[in-house]
Amino acid sequence: MRVEPMQPFYPVLPFARRMPEYRIPTDDVIKAALARVFQTRHEVPSQRALKRLVERDLRGSENFRVGGERVRHLAIDSGLVGLEIHTRESEQKKGLTKCPVCGERVKRLKNMTVFGGTVTLGFKCPKCGYRSGLRRRVPTRYVFTRH
Ligand SMILES: [Zn+2]
Repeated sequence: MRVEPMQPFYPVLPFARRMPEYRIPTDDVIKAALARVFQTRHEVPSQRALKRLVERDLRGSENFRVGGERVRHLAIDSGLVGLEIHTRESEQKKGLTKCPVCGERVKRLKNMTVFGGTVTLGFKCPKCGYRSGLRRRVPTRYVFTRH
């Protein structure tokens, strides 16, 4: 595992000195916080709630800030949690190559036609389980559960 040094983050503003200083935690620091969060919980009902729990866990000596999407990606990568993806169907019928949930390349769900060819029915992510028909399914909420 590659451990990166922590990068301080300074807002680029003329009165930056008066702003509180935030630090961006490394992946390993976030994964350790995720493990602690799920030691006492079986389920976290949203990405926003998970982000808050991770930030609260890390709020010790440092003022850490984490993005919700980053926390979701690391939660999926960690293998610590299962993911329930709530979606709504959109009107969009464009093809899909990258998973909107985890960024993995999606697989096409195909079916044979009576003429011996194949037809694409939708898409499935092999990593996080996201599925979509030809009409794009847009994630609306994530539920994280302990394995
Ligand atoms: Zn995915």
